[in-house]
Amino acid sequence: MGILLNESIQQITEQLQNWRRDFHHFAESGWFEFRTATIVADELHRLGYSLKMGKEVIKAEARMGLPSEQALQEQEQRAIKQGALVEWLPHFSGGFTGIVATLDTGKPGSTLAFRVDMDALDLNEDQTHIHRPYAEGFSSCNAHMMHACGHDGHTAIGLGLAHILKKHQSQLTGKIKLIFQPAEEGTRGAKSMVEAGVVDDVDFFIAIHLGLSVPQGELVCGCDNFLATTKIDVTYRGVSAHSGAKPEEGKNALLAAAQAALGLHAIPRHSEGSSRINVGVLQAGIGRNVIPDYALMKIETRGKTNEINEFIYHQTLSIIEGAAKMQSVEYEIKLMGAAQSSLPSPVWVDFIYQQTQKNTPELSSVVKSLQQPAGSEDATYFMERVKANGGQATYLIFGTELSAGHHNERFDFDENVMKTAVKTLATIALHLPDFETT
Ligand SMILES: [Zn+2]
Ligand SMILES: [Zn+2]
Repeated sequence: MGILLNESIQQITEQLQNWRRDFHHFAESGWFEFRTATIVADELHRLGYSLKMGKEVIKAEARMGLPSEQALQEQEQRAIKQGALVEWLPHFSGGFTGIVATLDTGKPGSTLAFRVDMDALDLNEDQTHIHRPYAEGFSSCNAHMMHACGHDGHTAIGLGLAHILKKHQSQLTGKIKLIFQPAEEGTRGAKSMVEAGVVDDVDFFIAIHLGLSVPQGELVCGCDNFLATTKIDVTYRGVSAHSGAKPEEGKNALLAAAQAALGLHAIPRHSEGSSRINVGVLQAGIGRNVIPDYALMKIETRGKTNEINEFIYHQTLSIIEGAAKMQSVEYEIKLMGAAQSSLPSPVWVDFIYQQTQKNTPELSSVVKSLQQPAGSEDATYFMERVKANGGQATYLIFGTELSAGHHNERFDFDENVMKTAVKTLATIALHLPDFETT
């Protein structure tokens, strides 16, 4: 089996790079993954997977941080011009850019799911020769959209894995589900897929990420450091007035926001674990001689556990309300994203650790957990749902050399990580019956 698998991986190595560079060039940020989704759907369909797409796998009301209707329409048109496969587009129209592909081996066994994400970031990519994607002609052609987190690689890995699993179908048992998720950045997309029930039948779950400061060639079998998070936009609305002639008639939204910002950063720490608060954006006011009637704040809270994040979030709500009262202004809070904290299932992590150590010599080292903080991830929604149903879930990280940190305009990775990831994930799928018999 080992040699055959290596041969199959070898055959798709070039294709992995082609996919990755194509997705990188036509980067699409969250809920705009129209072109990417049509290409993914077409490939999986041609391989013989049964597909569920769009509204079948995304619950409309559970989507967070959705762009405006107009922006969605414009981006869909942009995707068509850039080669989106129009026969698939109706499924994804309106920001339903998710796909679940199922391979039913016809043999008894459990259901194993892999999740990859497909979105780029709202970022302008470096367009100078020292940045390899530019030098080699595949940097983003879309302004303010860039794959600076490696999700282009994740999508390519998902497609590569689909090829390998199909090819080795006779050696597999049960069902395999490949989940292609939109809008991970800002933790906006996963919840809508979980609420559509896409992992309700899943016994074993794996989400992946490349990079994250893990050394080249290393595999982390169970990232356990994700912070729970809540992202909100707050709008204050006051009353404008002449600042010289009638300042007493104004109600000052700018001051409410400024007072809230200071209050938010003064929320106490938590004795049971780390917490974060950030006011990342504060925009207010209209002119020098006008009492500001409008302010916008973009805020995020985080916590080591769901409870700690909840604590920070509740404090946040009361400070926002208090600041509004101080200035007699109105306010509105919009939920833009959220993720949970989730610990990987220890026996599942142990199994992956043992199998990969034995069967994946491409990995220079295999470790069970991640030492450094990892930010937040909405794959945790999938993990929590699978675990709540009695299944096993984990989050793998494939280390690779990076040209710059994640979310930087010069981000790039060593593309060899993709075939290592496909080999590792296929190995786990092929050995899953060993887990079931232990
Ligand atoms: Zn990211
Ligand atoms: Zn990412």
